[in-house]
Amino acid sequence: MEMTFEELGLDEPLLRALRDEGYAKPTPIQEKAIPMVLAGRDLVGVAQTGTGKTAAFALPIIQMLSKNKRSPVRWEARCLILTPTRELAAQIGDSFRAYGRHARLKQTVVFGGVGQNPQVNSLAKGVDVLIATPGRLLDLMEQGFVKLGWLEIFVLDEADRMLDMGFIRDVERIISALPEKRQTLFFSATMPSEVVRLSRRILTDPVDVSVAPSATTVELVDQKVYFVDRNDKFELLKQILKSEQVGKALVFARTKHGADRLARQLSRDRIPTDAIHGNKSQGARTVSMANFRSGKTRVIIATDLAARGIDVDGITHVINYELPHEPETYIHRIGRTARAGASGSAVSFCDLDETIYLHDIERLTRQPISVVEEHALHSEIAHAAKRELEAGRTPRNVNPPHKRSGGNRGFRGGSRQYGGRSQGGYGRSQGGAGHGRGGASHASRPPSRGGSYGRRYSR
Ligand code: AMP
Repeated sequence: MEMTFEELGLDEPLLRALRDEGYAKPTPIQEKAIPMVLAGRDLVGVAQTGTGKTAAFALPIIQMLSKNKRSPVRWEARCLILTPTRELAAQIGDSFRAYGRHARLKQTVVFGGVGQNPQVNSLAKGVDVLIATPGRLLDLMEQGFVKLGWLEIFVLDEADRMLDMGFIRDVERIISALPEKRQTLFFSATMPSEVVRLSRRILTDPVDVSVAPSATTVELVDQKVYFVDRNDKFELLKQILKSEQVGKALVFARTKHGADRLARQLSRDRIPTDAIHGNKSQGARTVSMANFRSGKTRVIIATDLAARGIDVDGITHVINYELPHEPETYIHRIGRTARAGASGSAVSFCDLDETIYLHDIERLTRQPISVVEEHALHSEIAHAAKRELEAGRTPRNVNPPHKRSGGNRGFRGGSRQYGGRSQGGYGRSQGGAGHGRGGASHASRPPSRGGSYGRRYSR
């Protein structure tokens, strides 16, 4: 049964803002989370970016804070949203501003990489909503510019990323400064054991709201793979980017250096391209994103971590210039197109040594990716190696991944050990269609091998 925003218990100022935004109906996570948050419950939400999770917490928070108005206290915040990256912080700030435009709450966003004085000034009189990345928040707390003793609501966003990015200690220090009595909302795309432990420690009798957008993503995105020699990848990328169907493309590279090099080469070939990654200044990233949004550049090359913060509607193509070593990352990547129900295309390049990763991805999504064979750069050697893997044999001419990626997983050990995934929440096996689906408990999430798939990526 489809619900409306009215039925979720949202008041007129929010409904009006949602009409302004053009949202016709709630997404599954919004349907499940909003009434629970309004009822004051703690919540654990297993959901990725792209599911509408920001609105799932922002809407009820705005309503609760404005219904129960309190004059701001110097340096205090009533609600804290902790998120791992500057981009996400800025986006959450934009969402609160948009949804709260008829609500008159005071909000501010703090993150590192920019001067702190404007942030301190906006904190001085107290705020209703504080959106922050952990490092800068701790800095400000230590200087006495943020006090959290009166906090009413705490949101921890992207908990698994916090862990991957090494922020978990900072997060714990911040949590130790919060009042015991508070409402806590906890969001994570995956639930590795360390994240589960953290959630148990900081939540009280939480409701569990899980959606499996990845299955939806896998269904919505038109996926293709090109077998190609490593040395031919650049030529193939150029050909694809020059084709008319490609509007906005997000290209994934594995390293910062590789991303920069690709951006330079494409720009030289008159395809306006930018690269974003952790070495870019905040100013440079903001300019890159604005150019991409406006269409001034059509192509962004990004590393996995930098791409987490990209929320641009209308990305027509996600291109995996290199396949990720962790199959879950593939699902994260292709989810950058097909936002909020739209469809999109994902194109992957697979060289001989990457066939094992492609095989892993298909095992996780339980869906073969269709092969584009009719192109001049097709590598039959790579295609044949992939067929060998499908037949359960180890192709002899492939460099085992452990030789290339620092020994994390070898042919024999790593890649064969997770046949038990068929119970996982990501596959298509759960049945049903639509924008994600709920009810999957933590136990049924796919195991995240050590929960560490950010560790090997550079930012
Ligand atoms: P999020 O998962 O919070 O990053 O949201 C993903 C995208 O979906 C954002 O661009 C939102 O503006 C959009 N969005 C969120 N909720 C809805 C909705 N109910 N209907 C349409 N779009 C939405």
